[in-house]
Amino acid sequence: MEILWSPWRSQYIDSFKEESKIDEPSCFICDAVNAIGEEKKRLVIARLDFSIVMLNKFPYNNGHILIAPKKHTGDIDELNDVEAAEMLSTVRRASSILKKVFNPNGFNIGMNLGRVAGAGLPCHIHIHIVPRWNGDANFMPVIADTKVISQSLEQTQEILAKEFNCF
Ligand SMILES: [Zn+2]
Repeated sequence: MEILWSPWRSQYIDSFKEESKIDEPSCFICDAVNAIGEEKKRLVIARLDFSIVMLNKFPYNNGHILIAPKKHTGDIDELNDVEAAEMLSTVRRASSILKKVFNPNGFNIGMNLGRVAGAGLPCHIHIHIVPRWNGDANFMPVIADTKVISQSLEQTQEILAKEFNCF
């Protein structure tokens, strides 16, 4: 099934108005952490001891994953060593699964800390993993602000959750 996301970007930017402060007490990641049993609805892929793995609702590419600590914080300094280590080992595991399932040619992996650095959700840190395929940066997202996603979010959640096997 092919889905044309248009105009996904303006919806994403509008959502900033609701959750734009670093000191917000809760957020959609916390909602997902607390909504046990609503994995499909919340696009949750895995629940680990200290972190959660989710699909980005506004993906840059198919398989765009967010890895976040369960702890609600916008400051990476507030993670302890165990929480930080689990996030990085989860990045490794996620990239391994994405390679197996989607066979990408590369990845963008990173964090935006603070609104000024481009964080859409500055109150709760998260690592983005974006699979990349040769030729995916074509004219469509650049000119039309439109992105073609070849697989629905629900299907992708189901496939990746099965691979993680972590509920
Ligand atoms: Zn949060």
